[in-house]
Amino acid sequence: MSVPEATSHGYAGAFRVIPAPASWDVTPNLTDYGATRASFTWEAARAGLEGLPGGGLNIAHEALDRHVAAGRGAHVAIRWLARAGDRRDFTYAELSEQANRFANVLANLGVQRGQRVFSLAGRIPELYVAALGTWKYGAVFSPLFSAFGPEPIKQRLAIGDGRVLVTTSALYARKVAGIRAELAGLAHVLVVARDGEEIPAGTLGLDGLLRAASDRFATAATMPADEATIHFTSGTTGKPKGAVHVHEAVVAHHITGSYALDLRPDDIFWCTADPGWVTGTSYGIISPLTHGLTSIVDEAEFDAEHWYQVLDRERVTVWYTAPTAIRMLMRAGADLARSYNLSSLRFAGSVGEPLNPEAVVWGTEALGLPFHDNWWQTETGGIVIANFRAVDIRPGSMGLPLPGFEVGIVDHREDGGVSVIDRPDVDGELAIRPGWPSMFRGYLGDEERYRKAFANGWYLTGDLARRDGDGYYWFVGRADDVIKSSGHLIGPFEVESALLEHVAVAEAGVIGKPDAIAGNIVKAFVSLKPGFEESDALRRELLGHARQRLGAAVAPKEIAFLPALPRTRSGKIMRRLLRAWELGLPEGDLSTLESS
Ligand code: ATP
Ligand code: MG
Repeated sequence: MSVPEATSHGYAGAFRVIPAPASWDVTPNLTDYGATRASFTWEAARAGLEGLPGGGLNIAHEALDRHVAAGRGAHVAIRWLARAGDRRDFTYAELSEQANRFANVLANLGVQRGQRVFSLAGRIPELYVAALGTWKYGAVFSPLFSAFGPEPIKQRLAIGDGRVLVTTSALYARKVAGIRAELAGLAHVLVVARDGEEIPAGTLGLDGLLRAASDRFATAATMPADEATIHFTSGTTGKPKGAVHVHEAVVAHHITGSYALDLRPDDIFWCTADPGWVTGTSYGIISPLTHGLTSIVDEAEFDAEHWYQVLDRERVTVWYTAPTAIRMLMRAGADLARSYNLSSLRFAGSVGEPLNPEAVVWGTEALGLPFHDNWWQTETGGIVIANFRAVDIRPGSMGLPLPGFEVGIVDHREDGGVSVIDRPDVDGELAIRPGWPSMFRGYLGDEERYRKAFANGWYLTGDLARRDGDGYYWFVGRADDVIKSSGHLIGPFEVESALLEHVAVAEAGVIGKPDAIAGNIVKAFVSLKPGFEESDALRRELLGHARQRLGAAVAPKEIAFLPALPRTRSGKIMRRLLRAWELGLPEGDLSTLESS
């Protein structure tokens, strides 16, 4: 992919900078970005964890046992909010014991270290116990979305050579029983059966196994580079890839949780992501527990009123969510937010997709806090670029690189290599210098693809971005989604952001549509907020609004209305699907498409 000339248009500066507060009730973990970045070393970050004797490192030890040994065993680790409305607290000591039992279950079944344990379950406590017990045992954990159908489940279990599957009896009957015969390597299926549900033939009841197992287990002496977790990417741009992560990723999960999310031991933290998406594991399980805080796990799906109730009733202090959810809350209106007591909130973060400036600013109106966008991907394992509590926010920017990460904008050369673009405000591919602990160590079964992700000492992210003169990074678009039109390089995000400023627009997705003269024209798909009807007049108004904001070269030429945009289960707009529909092309891999 070659990156054409810089774009001169820009949305930077369209919204006023939100200055960092001048004083604090609770001092941020990172107060002086420049100084922290200058003095940062990964060795020092590693020293913030305990480690195992002999140079070993194990995620479960850092997440659980370390706190129990330090006398914080009675602190609540996970507060589980059941769909039915009841809640259950798990202390660090209880969770550690449960993880020990799960590790013993694996041992009793003859599972070997390094073998893969998959989960297919909603956000139930057993999922968290299985993850932590698997790491403790030295096996490899791979969480799948419970909403996956049989085919995506089969594919991933096959690619990952799953040995054990933890699921529920209902999900087993509906989705796994029919494909079981095709999964020769899957030796054990452990099911959670509730309220008198049957344990299906060919499976074992997890509850009974846990109860029969010892609650003591000596954590496996895993080394930092030992495989720990497999995460499948969201499949936004194609077939999902299985990214391999290792135990030392915990060093990055811990320190980035401290700097970018401002986590501390007395926090009530709520990461709304499902562990089937990397965010729900890195920041829904590992990072918060390494900080010894109380993590909210909400089994239910998104619902604006329910979410505000959780924030209010649980006195959440730090909240990490995603742009789709934020836009749905915006759709429900700021008045709804203001009817709850959200005064305990200290920090609100967002990840997964570009966060339009409008949404950042809306946070200040509705919650009294801006949303802090941050950027990372399955391959990076943890947050790489972020807006920090103590740093001014430029709405629409992803922020600044975390201490410990060298980030650059690179250009692709004719010879296949890349060169760094030193000048600010030039679009190029976002790249990171390898060496951070949560870097992925491979794509399962695709060495070639892994190799191709690196060039000239950089990891190439596949995202296009630009850096401004002050070092802030601005997302332009995924390389696959960027539109070349009449010599301009257009990132869908800036067009979508402009459309989202219009009062009628709830969601927007923008693609390039091939055109004989321009190469491509910009086409936008829009869904409307409640109370607005699609009409030619509204279409013309939106086209005019976009033209006025972006100029004729960048503004969409066509707008189509859709009731909702196609999204992945992790909430990302699938522009490739909009493209396929528009052009009558095959839909491609739909395993991660959210079907409502
Ligand atoms: P696939 O690689 O299978 O197409 P995916 O890239 O969506 O799926 P993830 O690893 O879950 O899978 O998502 C990471 C990507 O999400 C990033 O590369 C980027 O394109 C996008 N992203 C994440 N956070 C942000 C953000 N703050 N701003 C803009 N884009 C973001
Ligand atoms: Mg990706």
